[in-house]
Amino acid sequence: PAQIADHSDVLVIGGGQAALSAAYFLHRFGLGERYQVLDHAPGPGGAWQFRWPSLTLATANRVHDLPGWGIVDALGLDCDHLPAATAVPDYFGRYEARFGLNVHRPVHVRSVRRDGDGFRAELGDGRSVTADVIVNATGTWDRPFIPHIPGRADFSGRQLHTHDYRSPAEFAGQRVLVVGAGISAIQLLIEIAREAPGVETFWCSRREPVFDPEPFTPEQGREAVARVERRVRAGLPPTSVVSVTGLALTPTIAAARRDGILQWRPMFTRITETGVCWDCTTEGGDPEHLDVDVIFWNTGFRSALDHLAPLRLRAPGGGIVMTGRLATVVEADPRVQLLGYGPSASTIGANRAGREAARVAAELLGVR
Ligand code: FAD
Repeated sequence: PAQIADHSDVLVIGGGQAALSAAYFLHRFGLGERYQVLDHAPGPGGAWQFRWPSLTLATANRVHDLPGWGIVDALGLDCDHLPAATAVPDYFGRYEARFGLNVHRPVHVRSVRRDGDGFRAELGDGRSVTADVIVNATGTWDRPFIPHIPGRADFSGRQLHTHDYRSPAEFAGQRVLVVGAGISAIQLLIEIAREAPGVETFWCSRREPVFDPEPFTPEQGREAVARVERRVRAGLPPTSVVSVTGLALTPTIAAARRDGILQWRPMFTRITETGVCWDCTTEGGDPEHLDVDVIFWNTGFRSALDHLAPLRLRAPGGGIVMTGRLATVVEADPRVQLLGYGPSASTIGANRAGREAARVAAELLGVR
């Protein structure tokens, strides 16, 4: 694409599924010359380009097709077994080229503030650009979340988060404690237990997950998304839609259970220099200690919204009050939309939110 414009009527921040869907529909709705997308990732693919090499499209439950051109059309084969970290960037890159989307990389948006009737975004290199409408689609990958547990700084072993995981080989011969009850925690616990030579694994989370022997129904999915939507409309921090869609008892999980890999323990209460312990803060209690070399946090992500802090969008409930047909519009400032936040934080939700954002932008700019 051409150079970054000093002003665009619509500024899309991010460059993953939600941003590309928005850009596609901005063209469709007559705003093809009036927007730009700024993404700080080195290449196309959004967060998928950073995911660990063993995550395939099949284990990621497929990535929903972007509007107008599907992944099978783009890659031209049965792509389920391809690593998501290469297949999705390949698909998204071809998609951007096919539709001539105006995406600039790598461009970091450091902050967005109000400026006259519109907004001014400060970029990583010190430049700034202005816009009338902000479509934020920055995902969650850049905000790994680790819960506060006393003693975390005392641990002398290695701590890492899902965000930093590469392969089981690096845990050979170690005692690894996996923390978390989501799909990443379980997939990576099984992968490490099965593939790292000489590893010993342990698993803790706040609640023991329930594995559903029945496949998850579309109605359950819609209800899970609706719950998250109600939260963000009330200004509460969103919970992850991907995490509330339940955990299916797949053959891989059933086999891991049978082989004793999924031996759940409740959450520990303190971290020590050499491991973790339970009840170690209660006087007269019966502390139990577990020595480990690695604590592997699979404890989720939060929305990457720090650059919007100057806009002061947060409500007293800790979240941002969202409104509009699909809860993509910030109630406190309807010229700001958040995609991939709350109910749209899934590949299918990101697509829908992109369309809605383009529609709202066209309305705000008097095009529709
Ligand atoms: P992303 O793909 O995260 O894209 C955000 C983009 O914004 C990135 O390119 C990033 O570099 C850029 N960015 C961030 N901050 C800035 C900034 N300040 N300036 C400029 N650019 C910025 N969903 C599903 O539906 N199915 C799944 O199987 C699934 N698996 C997942 C597995 C994991 C491990 C995780 C963490 C999430 C998963 N999700 C899944 C949720 C998934 O991430 C979303 O569905 C989808 O990728 C979100 O797309 P997005 O466009 O909102 O965000």
